[in-house]
Amino acid sequence: MITKENPARTTEVVGVLPITGPAGVDAAVRRAEAARRDWSAHPIAGRVAALRRCAAAIAGRAEELAVLLARESGKPLADCRGEIGFALAYLEWVCERAPDVLAERVTDDGAGRLVTRRRPYGVVACVTPWNAPVILTMTKLAPALAAGNTAVVKPSPLAPLAAGAVAAALPHVEVVHGGAETGQALVTHPLVRKVAFTGGDAAGRAIAAAAGAMLTPSVLELGGNDPAVLLPDFALTPDDYERLVMASFATSGQVCMAAKRLYVPRRRAGEFTEAYVAAAERILLVGDPLVPGVTMGPVISGEAAARVRELAWGRGVAVPLGRATGDLSAGYFVTPVLVGGLADDDPLVVTEQFGPAVPLLVYDGEEEVVGRANASELGLGASVWSGDEERAFAVAGRLEAGFVFVNTHNRTGMSLRAPFGGVKRSGYGREYGEEGLLEYVQTAVTHAPAAFRPGGSGMPATAYPDRA
Ligand code: NAD
Repeated sequence: MITKENPARTTEVVGVLPITGPAGVDAAVRRAEAARRDWSAHPIAGRVAALRRCAAAIAGRAEELAVLLARESGKPLADCRGEIGFALAYLEWVCERAPDVLAERVTDDGAGRLVTRRRPYGVVACVTPWNAPVILTMTKLAPALAAGNTAVVKPSPLAPLAAGAVAAALPHVEVVHGGAETGQALVTHPLVRKVAFTGGDAAGRAIAAAAGAMLTPSVLELGGNDPAVLLPDFALTPDDYERLVMASFATSGQVCMAAKRLYVPRRRAGEFTEAYVAAAERILLVGDPLVPGVTMGPVISGEAAARVRELAWGRGVAVPLGRATGDLSAGYFVTPVLVGGLADDDPLVVTEQFGPAVPLLVYDGEEEVVGRANASELGLGASVWSGDEERAFAVAGRLEAGFVFVNTHNRTGMSLRAPFGGVKRSGYGREYGEEGLLEYVQTAVTHAPAAFRPGGSGMPATAYPDRA
């Protein structure tokens, strides 16, 4: 059984779910497989209409789902409302764009007749994390279903309830529950044709290896250690400072694309720290996620709290940030901190902290800061902050990241049309944008070369064509 506690009040049980064993996973995949021919045979307009009806039903339950998400994940209620709204906005974006992006393309000219179709894979296995569970389930299901796939989802046992409910409200989606064992049973199932995973490095490697052994293609959205680079001319208003604070501390820092390393020019470090601490005092209110005005809840587990405290304290100069409200001893609350004076090889700088502690690192020159920002195995996101947009874009182009934000970072910089994903060890494949749709189709071609069409000139049996 999964007994899901509220991380803000650990004596409160939010839900209890049975773990799906291997036979249950097999049955779920077989149901999804049985549904796929009929679903993929529907014209895309019919699939999109069905998805829109489901979206309306989910929207009708949005508040109930947001409260459930807040109670199981510890994320502030306003964030949970935003997450459900963004997931629905993405579903609508997919419904609008998929018919065109996935349409059959026909070329009929002097070189021959070429038809390019976008075919669904079949059953897609989705293994998702706990930190933005509804959105990260939707970024897989919406494009997969619109393209004509069916799916089996395994949410994280750390926040399985809202994501499971949203997934189950979509057509031809099966939901299984459990941890690594259930995930492995799912991704190694012979009827699974594509694996979509978001999560950490260790699970990502295990999933990629398991999928690879089955020759099942995968898309992997893994962790990040995003640098936020403030150029010497940075010109931040008080609102900008607040946005930068929340770029690191939203969801208690447990966001793949959080600003996880702050690089500030040495001569402006004092001024920066003062304004940053003042902004945190205004914007960062730590407390129970259901209390209005709270912007930072607990971390997800006792283990996560211990890990972040270990990373944040003891080396360097830790400056506690923000304000607190209510009884924080009831849950897994961690004081948010800005930590200065750390070496580049400090564990808080090198690892993905995934918690409310961010290192402040000073630099002297542009070459130096680009080199230090890029000195990571991870390459998910990054940001450049400058009063000069051209200069910011030029530096952004030198950063080794799949997504570079300018003058913002984290979710305020997201766009439904912009493909998101990592370079280096932050994974492969993309979510959002047209690339996120194309992840769930295989290209299939039918070709009649001009030479062999009726009246064609023919070609020697061993020849290559002159031109395409
Ligand atoms: P996690 O890797 O611990 O778990 C993710 C999912 O994988 C869960 O459903 C889990 O049960 C399952 N799992 C774990 N081990 C497995 C195994 N061996 N085989 C099969 N399934 C397995 O991650 P988490 O703690 O839920 O999420 C945090 C991580 O996710 C962070 O590293 C974060 O940066 C990353 N993340 C990345 C993105 C992105 O878009 N790149 C988005 C959100 C989170």
